[in-house]
Amino acid sequence: MLQGTSDDIQKWKRYEFLFEGTKDMIFYFSSDGKVIECNSSAYEQLGFEPGETIWMQHILRTCSKIDDGYIVIQNEKIDQYFETSIYRKNQTCFPVQARISLLYGEEKVNGEGVFGVCRACSILQQNQAERELVFAKEGIKEAHKERNEFVANVTHELRTPVNGIMGLAQTLMDTQLTGEQRETVELIDHCCKNMIKIINNILDFSKLQAGKFTIESREFNFLEMMNALVKTNQPVIEEKGLHLVCNVSSDIPERVIGDELRLTQVLNNLLSNAVKFTSIGQIVVNVIKSMDLPDEMELFFMVIDSGIGIAESEKDKLFKSFSQVDASITRKYGGTGLGLSIVKDLVHMMGGEINVESEEGKGSTFSFSIRVKKVDSLQKEDETERKEFSFHLGNITEEDSDTSAVFRLGSPENLKEIQNNMEKLVLCIEMENWERANAFADNVKQLVSEDAMNLKRKAFRLQMTVRKGDYDTAMQQYEELKEAIAEMEKTCNS
Ligand code: ADP
Repeated sequence: MLQGTSDDIQKWKRYEFLFEGTKDMIFYFSSDGKVIECNSSAYEQLGFEPGETIWMQHILRTCSKIDDGYIVIQNEKIDQYFETSIYRKNQTCFPVQARISLLYGEEKVNGEGVFGVCRACSILQQNQAERELVFAKEGIKEAHKERNEFVANVTHELRTPVNGIMGLAQTLMDTQLTGEQRETVELIDHCCKNMIKIINNILDFSKLQAGKFTIESREFNFLEMMNALVKTNQPVIEEKGLHLVCNVSSDIPERVIGDELRLTQVLNNLLSNAVKFTSIGQIVVNVIKSMDLPDEMELFFMVIDSGIGIAESEKDKLFKSFSQVDASITRKYGGTGLGLSIVKDLVHMMGGEINVESEEGKGSTFSFSIRVKKVDSLQKEDETERKEFSFHLGNITEEDSDTSAVFRLGSPENLKEIQNNMEKLVLCIEMENWERANAFADNVKQLVSEDAMNLKRKAFRLQMTVRKGDYDTAMQQYEELKEAIAEMEKTCNS
């Protein structure tokens, strides 16, 4: 029966609620270790009956002992949370997190002076959950490893037959073929090359995931590497009628130490994306030295295109594996969405960061940095004398490096590009090559898009006609568009 003022009684009720309403075990004990009071949770978990004597030194054996009839608690355990084992009546034990405070008889419970209080909560389930988590993590790791090995083996096995088919197609191309046969064989060759690209990406991806990718540190000729990069991409760039500008600032030495193969892979990937997603204008590759340290330097690369661009909301998807900006893009341009995720990992491994800036419909700039080592101090001096490396592919002027100028209706770059595409468009209509004509009509439509009401509408109508393959109407609409463009040009010049 509780005694005291009504405030005291209220207080006791609140304490009783906390004391009995918890799953934790709470023990009040006297100076000889005898439990004066404990909650029902303690009785239940330890297997004692209410009223049965419990000794703290029996249930918490590792932290308490009896000395001269008094209980002694290890000093470092007082007022601290610690993990230990608590013993049941039947001598079995389980892990708990406990905390002991000493009260030195100031409090009275059941008429007796209390020496200390202990609160202990079982961590059996928590430990089990932790063990299960570790187990699950190991399982996942093992499954990943197996998957990566499987993917690596399969892709490796796939490469051999695809290479075989490609070899046979190339042998066939050296024989006498009809036009149609040659087209088919070229298509086979093209498909094989695409497949090899995909296989290589998957192989790289699984190697990166398995942490088996290493970056080499070897001396190489940086300018020759840039030259080779331009040459590799030249055929596609020329085929699409694009321009390429490549500038390497003069303070970058000719020879550096780094991973030439991986750097080429990153640049090739960004450059081929730039070409893939650009139909008009130019691509600019700039390389500058962004940091000069005693033995190392940071190189900063920019790949700028005037292509379709990327919406702000889609940018964070870009560097994730298997993600492409949207399904319609995948359908039109193909790809697995692995390229940029591999590029990001490679750039990180070469000590740098990658970024993208883009505006939908206007173009994108992918930039990244890497660290390379200097060859040696003597050579460093000579090579600062090197003259500017600059490479121009196609008809291009200095101002062309401003990629957005091409879409500014009436600007010299814009007029030149319109003329260029109109010439190709009429040739394709005359030859009834409707697929290519459609691409050029689309380019013209984009180039005149600032004049949405007149020129863009005319270009749009022409593109629709081209898609239907209607020769006469296409020629007539072409002439109308040409006249309207000439009018626009006149007003621009006056
Ligand atoms: P994939 O390996 O299929 O080429 P990437 O990881 O290289 O995939 O590119 C993922 C997506 O990012 C592309 O499908 C495209 O939507 C977008 N993207 C990449 N580069 C450009 C670019 N220069 N201009 C516009 N979109 C781009």
